[in-house]
Amino acid sequence: MACVFCSIVAGEAPALRIHEDDEFLAFLDIRPFTRGHTLVIPKRHTVDLTDTPPDTVAGLAVLGQRIAKAARLSGLHADGNNIAINDGKAAFQTVFHLHLHVVPRRTGDKLSFAKGLVLRRDPDRAASARLLRAALANLDETAQD
Ligand code: 5GP
Ligand code: ZN
Repeated sequence: MACVFCSIVAGEAPALRIHEDDEFLAFLDIRPFTRGHTLVIPKRHTVDLTDTPPDTVAGLAVLGQRIAKAARLSGLHADGNNIAINDGKAAFQTVFHLHLHVVPRRTGDKLSFAKGLVLRRDPDRAASARLLRAALANLDETAQD
């Protein structure tokens, strides 16, 4: 399969999955800026914001919001998140399957964030995935109360 994110959707390429439903998949970025850096993608391949239906962009944003909330509640202790879509090569898009970045941030993390932009590694990605999954499960429970 030509597209690496389609390969992840198909289960042909490995990824640390955070959330999956019929339309969307969220998984950890392989070269994270911070711990818990997550990519949210529509399962159906589109390239960027030019060919993606508005409803899909909306769904992507809603799931991004849930993951951002989970990051705050999680053991990653995020105090906020950067949410971004790099729309097109001119905007530094490198994988041409639409995706939304959720990058957890901590108050006062300016220096470690700058370091993360260069190093782009998490010493324990599996633990970050577990913490995010657990927080998402808690959010789901709260929603049902
Ligand atoms: P872009 O610059 O296109 O918005 O970001 C693409 C992101 O995808 C980068 O942050 C990069 O680290 C991530 N990425 C690229 N290939 C893979 C992969 O095979 N698996 C995962 N989990 N992330 C990837
Ligand atoms: Zn794709």
